[in-house]
Amino acid sequence: MKPKRSLVYFLLLSSLALAQHPSTHKKAAKAAPVTRPKADPALTIHQSALIVDTHADTPQRFLDENFDLGQNTPLAEGHIDLDKIRQGNLGAEFFSIWVEPEFKGHYSQRAMDLIDSVYHQAARHPDKMTMAFSADDIARAHDQHKFAALMGIEGGHAIENDMRLLRDFYRIGVRYMTLTWSNTNEWADSSGDIQDPNVKHHNGMTDFGKDVVREMNRLGMIVDISHVSDATFYQALLVSQAPVIASHSSSRELTNQPRNMTDDMLRAMTNNGGVVMVNFYSAFIDENYRKASSDPEKIKQRDAEVDAYKKAHAHPDGSPVTYDETAAIEKKWATQFPRPPLKSLIDHIDHVAKVAGIDHVGLGSDFDGVTSLPEGIDSAADLPKITQALYQRGYTREQILKILGGNFMRVMRDVEATAKRLQAERKESDALSFEDIELMVGNRVNPAQLIDRVNQHGVSFDLTPERVTRLKGQKAEDSVVDAIAKARKK
Ligand SMILES: [Zn+2]
Repeated sequence: MKPKRSLVYFLLLSSLALAQHPSTHKKAAKAAPVTRPKADPALTIHQSALIVDTHADTPQRFLDENFDLGQNTPLAEGHIDLDKIRQGNLGAEFFSIWVEPEFKGHYSQRAMDLIDSVYHQAARHPDKMTMAFSADDIARAHDQHKFAALMGIEGGHAIENDMRLLRDFYRIGVRYMTLTWSNTNEWADSSGDIQDPNVKHHNGMTDFGKDVVREMNRLGMIVDISHVSDATFYQALLVSQAPVIASHSSSRELTNQPRNMTDDMLRAMTNNGGVVMVNFYSAFIDENYRKASSDPEKIKQRDAEVDAYKKAHAHPDGSPVTYDETAAIEKKWATQFPRPPLKSLIDHIDHVAKVAGIDHVGLGSDFDGVTSLPEGIDSAADLPKITQALYQRGYTREQILKILGGNFMRVMRDVEATAKRLQAERKESDALSFEDIELMVGNRVNPAQLIDRVNQHGVSFDLTPERVTRLKGQKAEDSVVDAIAKARKK
């Protein structure tokens, strides 16, 4: 974050070193050019970069452990604190607002609490960090040598099937939403349970789910396709008018995890103009680690241990025992498998760069959300090692800057520009959206009046069978449904 200052220090130190050795100094003065120890070129690139990481689960630590970013974190406990951020030159982080499905009935409340915990950190450390809500905010924070904190919701269930909540989350600063987490919600399928016959699936997304994507486009909230099922992925790309991101996903070609992206998906991301932010988790980037850690017997033993802990430590108020509380068990369990080499992570970045293109790859660490990281990457402080490895593979300065943050910044600006355009267009059209109709039906607007409005303004959507069911479920009269079916489409 402080390229200029460190360069000054470096020059100062080298001149001091020369001053202490008069003979060297003399020699250097006589023979031009002056020989100075050469700066590590990879480190120079790293220190000059604006680095954006799009996924860290630290808010659970803020909220459930009372963790403060100003505390130095032992490596066994966490991957991110202000000191590690500075050492790694991390410029901006998307803190994940991850709502555990166990919070059923309280999803939005839990999301609000996590959001509050991020603001709280920024308020506690105003000299070192700041909240950011746009690409310009990130750039400005970088210029001021401040760490930029952003927020993304992980798991569309957090909006509780309510478009108004989605808008509220945008208003309080959420800038991306992962359409699903590992759980299929009521409008989009997840890769996490797509094989589970007990879960009601939608063949991708429902009409409401597609409307969620459209509304995110209009708001300027980035559509995040990490975790979703393949069908949801392709449908989201068809519907979205703005580039999308995978905030923390790796390559399925290299590591056969259903949550990773196939080469075909990577190529679809190229066409979409989006960016795939590569996840660092050992089980997503290394086939050996994935196989070892997916041994059903070992998983069974771990799950039994977690369940026993949950029973023994049930909360008196009935609130769920959080992942944060059982994380220590999972972390200890993970140590039985040897960590993969750093090369495995670099292979994934390299693969995405080759298949999707150098303009479509970035970093989505999943710090504080995973139990194992490749060798050498213990925390955010080790980010320079990634730059070093890319440099050694022949990546140029310009390419590395794109991977470290440039590509994401382009996508965020694209999403912002699309939102501006859509808002301007929408203002000109007075056609009723499905949501307008739902609100009127829900508010018991007189059917004759409603039909008048439909005839006068027209509608902006197709009346699909799913929408008919939704309207009838809200007791819309048949005459209203008929009028919509016959209305002008704009
Ligand atoms: Zn995740």
